[in-house]
Amino acid sequence: MGPQVAIDLGRIERNARRIVERCAQSGIKVFGVTKGTCGMPQVARAMLRGGVAGIAESRFENIRRLHESGIDCPIMLLRSPPISRVEEVVRTVDISLQSELAIIGEISRIAERLGRIHDVIVMVDLGDLREGIWPNDLLPTVEKILEMKGVRIAGIGTNLTCFGAIVPTKENLGQLVAHAYKIERLAGITLDWVSGGNSSSLPLLLDGGLPAGINNLRVGEAILQGGIETFRDEPWPGLEYDAFRLAGELIEVKLKPSMPIGESGFDAFGNRPLFVDEGDRLRGIANIGREDVIVESLTPINKGVRVLGASSDHLVLDVTEADPPLAVGDRVSFRMGYGALLTTMTSEYVEKAPMHDIADIPGRKMVSIIAEPQSAPILARHDIGSRFEAMDYDVVELADASRPPAGLIRLHSGKDRRAAYQALAAAARSTHSLGLIWIDSIAALMPEAGEDEEMAETSVLSRVLGLGGRQDALQPQLSPENVVLVGLREAHPTEAKILKETRVSVFTMAEIDGSGMRDVMREAIRIASSGTSGFHVSYSPTATEMPEWAPGAGGITVRETHQAMEAIALSGRMVSMDISSVAAELDPRIGHETVNFVMSAFGKRIL
Ligand SMILES: *Cc1c(COP(=O)(O)O)cnc(C)c1O
Repeated sequence: MGPQVAIDLGRIERNARRIVERCAQSGIKVFGVTKGTCGMPQVARAMLRGGVAGIAESRFENIRRLHESGIDCPIMLLRSPPISRVEEVVRTVDISLQSELAIIGEISRIAERLGRIHDVIVMVDLGDLREGIWPNDLLPTVEKILEMKGVRIAGIGTNLTCFGAIVPTKENLGQLVAHAYKIERLAGITLDWVSGGNSSSLPLLLDGGLPAGINNLRVGEAILQGGIETFRDEPWPGLEYDAFRLAGELIEVKLKPSMPIGESGFDAFGNRPLFVDEGDRLRGIANIGREDVIVESLTPINKGVRVLGASSDHLVLDVTEADPPLAVGDRVSFRMGYGALLTTMTSEYVEKAPMHDIADIPGRKMVSIIAEPQSAPILARHDIGSRFEAMDYDVVELADASRPPAGLIRLHSGKDRRAAYQALAAAARSTHSLGLIWIDSIAALMPEAGEDEEMAETSVLSRVLGLGGRQDALQPQLSPENVVLVGLREAHPTEAKILKETRVSVFTMAEIDGSGMRDVMREAIRIASSGTSGFHVSYSPTATEMPEWAPGAGGITVRETHQAMEAIALSGRMVSMDISSVAAELDPRIGHETVNFVMSAFGKRIL
């Protein structure tokens, strides 16, 4: 996979909505700025769903992209065009920010020729020293513009924190409002807009210091990045970070010294790099480079990973402490600063993947626990939540169960095997194809009693596979060739016949004794994973021989059960799990052991 930016449109929409709603309370309309994404139409539409009054852009190419995708909201041009392209401004945008009389004159001339009147916002420089008319020249300039027939002064505006890093204050924005009144009084016109800057004006607004009279802000960073750069000192908790994440693939992972060997000169960019000797380190190379991104503003999301540097196409990482460990072919992901965002969105080599509500953070381990009422107290007694947290899982509650974030594993717990049906049905709803590893003493393949009867414990798998011809089978998501039974000890002749006829795979106790659990699990995982997006694990404590069960019941040993669960964890392919028999009647020691098996399946290692 090449480098990819995953774009979470849900976050962008929610950020836009929060900002729009807060601004509305102060009589401010927000234009959403999409230039950080090269005018990506999906991003503009997410902002519009969030309620922005229009879209603001700095480049024609981006505005063309928006128009071509059918976006017909008001569009504001943030930067003056070169004189040669004035006609495009007049034809394609509704309103533009302007600060140079010569260009405004040309706009007017062409607009007149086309029989139009173009709206301009006259920019005032309040000290940041990027664009804008110096305040002393403002009125004379306005007077000249008023003589032009093809333009209308729709407002005045300013831009801060872009070049001179001058922050918006009560004073400088107060001056903007004062200039607006002066223009209205002296020129006898009414201004539609007093545009008080970009994202960097939001902290002042939240503090209650934004002067009354300002009725427009042009907001990019805070919507796209959650204000991570705008609200440096005190984040706005209502906004979400990480709407954009960059991912690449590891193309080399090797143990190498941390000091380069040989005579040192200049690197590929004319710098003399300095190195610290940390001995041998495990280094990874990702297929991302300076041609794609400003690597200095990347923050690895994978735990324990450090960025060492980059050349045009190679991003060199220290992965010695990566947790979980990383290997060639694994994906590494990064959070980006605004600079990195701009470059990745501009690089032709980076794929842009708009999505909706993607995994919170790839690499973050998440579990959601769904316990039946009889089961919940037992899980609570074993403190299952804190045990997950001790293993670095986030225990989350799903708002929308049909759209779990990628990487989340669901754990269902119920008083009997019918919990497996519920768990599998939930897993099947959120994926296109699924495998099943069924670790149990029985096959649960008995024919169903009848259409109206409640499902029996012994026919759960028949129901799942649709063997009775019922409509609520979980096909096509789960097909028999991806189903494996492990640890079978008893099968009714009817079930034996069904097993022969379907393509379900079985590893009985005899086979486990013969080949060993390790080999059996390797095969089981292969079958359940082949062509699927992962597998469900269904575990019944009756599969394991425990002293508390009736003597001589047999089954796989406690050690073998752990071995099976550890193999499952190592595969990384488990998407959900259920455990049955978890109810008050269960012997507490078996309950305790069962929870230990779950922990193994979720990656707990002895060492
Ligand atoms: C880029 C830009 C904005 C948006 O700035 P953010 O910091 O992304 O909110 C607003 N106005 C002008 C003139 C700009 O160039």
